[in-house]
Amino acid sequence: MTLNDGSVIPQFGLGVYHVPADDTAGLVRTALQLGYRHVDTAQGYGNEAGVGQGLRDAGVPREDVWITTKLDDGAHGYDAAQRALDASLRRLGTDHVDLFLVHRPGEADVETWRAFAAMRADGRVRSVGVSNFGRRGIEQLVDATGVVPAVNQIRVNPRTPHRGMRRYHRRRGITTESWGPLREGRLTTHPIARRVAARVGRTPAQVILRWHLQRGIVVFPKSADPGRLAENLAITDFTLSRREMAAIDLMRRWK
Ligand code: NAD
Repeated sequence: MTLNDGSVIPQFGLGVYHVPADDTAGLVRTALQLGYRHVDTAQGYGNEAGVGQGLRDAGVPREDVWITTKLDDGAHGYDAAQRALDASLRRLGTDHVDLFLVHRPGEADVETWRAFAAMRADGRVRSVGVSNFGRRGIEQLVDATGVVPAVNQIRVNPRTPHRGMRRYHRRRGITTESWGPLREGRLTTHPIARRVAARVGRTPAQVILRWHLQRGIVVFPKSADPGRLAENLAITDFTLSRREMAAIDLMRRWK
C-alpha cells in the first residue's frame, strides 16, 4: 500500500509482541525465509536486537524488508525521542527504520512529534506514524507541525471495526494498521469465521486476515509456529465475496 508520504508498505507482515528476546532471531529468520517482508517490533518488546539478527541471518537484503519500531513510553520529548531512536538503530543494526511510531499518547506529544519530523527529514526514519491515538491527539500533532502521520496502529478487527475512526483516517489520508488482527487468536474459533472458512476452503485465521486486507488495513499477525506462519502468509491467492465479507462484518454484533 502507498502511504501518504509516498512510501510503499507491504500490507502483510509479522508482529513480534511477546516473542522472547532469545527466540526472536530464529523466528524472524524463518518468517523471512518463508517470504515475509515486514516486521513490526517496538522498543518496549525488548527484542529489536533479535529482529536485526534474524534479518542478517536470513540473508535477505535490508532494502527488501520493512521494519517498524515504536517509541517507548518513557522516551517522549524532543531529545529523549531522538536518543531512543538511535538506540533502536544500534540494536537493529541498521541505519534507518522504515516506520517509527509513537507507541501511545503521553507527555509532550507535540515535542515528540517535532522530533519525528526531524528524524524523517534526516533519513533515519522513512515514515512516521502513531499508535493508539484518537482524533483529537492526531489533530493536535497536525495543527502544531503540519505533519500528518502516515499510519495509526489501532486495535481493529471484525469484532471492533472502529468504523468512525477508519472514516477519519481515510479523510486524513492515514493508513490504518491493525494490532491484534486475530484478537490474540480468539477470532479463529468464532462460529462465523469457521463457517466462512469452510465455505471457501480456507482456515478461520486466513479468512479473518483476508478480511483485513480487503478492508485496506495493514496486518502483522504474530505466531511462533512455522506452520501457522505459512498459513497466515497464504492469503493472497483467494478473494472473499461481498457476501462473505458482509458475514464477517456481522461479527461486530456478537456479544
Ligand atoms: P494477534 O491477533 O496477531 O494474535 C496472535 C495469537 O494468535 C498468537 O499468539 C497465536 O496464539 C494465535 N494465532 C496466530 N496465528 C494463528 C493461526 N493461524 N491459527 C490460530 N491461531 C493463531 O495478536 P498480537 O500478537 O497481540 O498482535 C499482532 C501484533 O500487533 C503484535 O505482535 C505487535 O507487533 C502488534 N501489537 C501492537 C500493539 C500496540 O499497542 N501498538 C499492541 C499489541 C500488539
